[in-house]
This record gives sequence, structure tokens and C-alpha cells, in this order.
Amino acid sequence: MPWTERQQLMLREMGLRVWQPRAKAGAPAAAAARAATPPPGAAAVAPPAPNSAAARSTVPVGDGRRSAIAAMDWPELRDAVAACTACGLCRARRQTVFGVGHPQADWMIVGEAPGEQEDRRGEPFVGPAGHLLDNMLRAVQLTRAEADAAHQVFIVNTLKCRPPRNRNPEPQELAACEPFLVRQIELVRPRIILAMGRFAVQSLLRSSEPIGRLRGRVHRYQGVPLVVTYHPAYLLRNPADKARAWDDLCLATNTAEAAAAR
Ligand code: URA
Repeated sequence: MPWTERQQLMLREMGLRVWQPRAKAGAPAAAAARAATPPPGAAAVAPPAPNSAAARSTVPVGDGRRSAIAAMDWPELRDAVAACTACGLCRARRQTVFGVGHPQADWMIVGEAPGEQEDRRGEPFVGPAGHLLDNMLRAVQLTRAEADAAHQVFIVNTLKCRPPRNRNPEPQELAACEPFLVRQIELVRPRIILAMGRFAVQSLLRSSEPIGRLRGRVHRYQGVPLVVTYHPAYLLRNPADKARAWDDLCLATNTAEAAAAR
């Protein structure tokens, strides 16, 4: 869909380069083919209700935990996340925040951890940072709302539980939660991963380099192209970097389109 004049004006006023979609060589067909075969029971992945059967199921512990999680399908993974007690964050959470979106989305968006509103609602990015994220996604014709695999993203966090008072995730919490994220990425098999902020980058790229040094090029995570960008909460505090985030979105869009055309 081309930009309306009003959208173009708005983007220019924000100092942002206007991205025009390229003709999609074979992309719709490829996306449609992937979208046509969602895994059973996985229309839009919703979090399990607190105290549901899912919330009562057992999570593997000890040495076999990682390999057990690596073998899970969507329902098993959702149940395992809902019942997880692998770190202390389980004690203060209202509920886990599994992630939402198309189970075979072209785009996977990885954030940090649920905040207060996400902990209440069981959905990632529903507060002010989420509002900005939704606008950023809309600017490149993506959405969290129900759509085909090319347009509906899958949004997840590195941590599935809210850290108290929204403090930074701790290394052992990231390590305990990582197998869930790894399995989510394997199940979705996205064409592009957008890693937002330093904890997503730490988990996925094992890098503690600043975002500013990692953005602007395409990395790889398990063979999947990965673009690093600023976290939307950071952008709310540092609006001057929105133009850079826009460039990152354009890079991710072009990378996803190139992958779809292959
Ligand atoms: N910030 C995140 O990284 N994730 C959320 O879900 C909300 C805010």
C-alpha cells in the first residue's frame, strides 16, 4: 500500500526517510503458502488463563529441561511457560506473558520483559512503549492484529515474567527463560527477527556491545537474519533516535522481502 500524502508529510516532519514498498517478487505466494498451514490450534497465540489447566502443568527441571523444551509443540510450550518456576520472578508475577501473533509470522519482534500493564493483561507491549511499537509496525504495513503471515508479526519478550518494579533482567533470569525464546523462534521460523534493546541482543547475539554499534547491519540468529534496533521505551525517552529506528525498520523490511523472494 503506498503512503498517503498525509502519512508522507507526517514522516518527513518527524525527520524520517519515506520507505516505499518494493514490488514483491513471489513474496505474497510464499507468505500465503506458509500462512495456509498453521499448526493445530494456533490461530493467534494467546496467553493461557491464570489458574487454567495450562497453568497447572509441570515444567521439566534439571539437566533435561533445555532439551525437553526444545521438543515442545505450541500448546506444550504455552503450558510450560505458564507453569514455570525456574527463577524467582514466578513469585511476584500475576501471570506469564507468552507472546502474541501469527504462529508462522515472517517477522518476530523480541523485546525485554513484561511491565506492569503486560503482567496484568498477559500480552506483551500493551503500555506506552507498545503504543509506539504498534505505530512503528503500522508504518511498514505490519500489525499485531489478525492478518496473514506476511503482515501479522509475532511479538515476544526475552523474559516471560515481570521483574519487580521493572528492574533490569538478571543474567540467571535471562538464562532460565532463554530455552522458551529459542523454541518460540524455532516454531515460528521467521524470515526476520527484530531485536529491540540490549537484553534481546544479549540473549540472541550473546553480545554486550551497545545498540548503536550493532544496528545498521544484518546479523544472523540460527540462520535467521536479525536486525538490532532501539527499544521503544528508550525511543520514548530519546525521540531524536526515532530516525535511526526508522532506518532499522527499513533495513529489516528490505531483508525480509529479499528472504521472501528467494
Ligand atoms: N517492554 C518490553 O520489552 N516488553 C514489554 O512487553 C513491555 C515493555
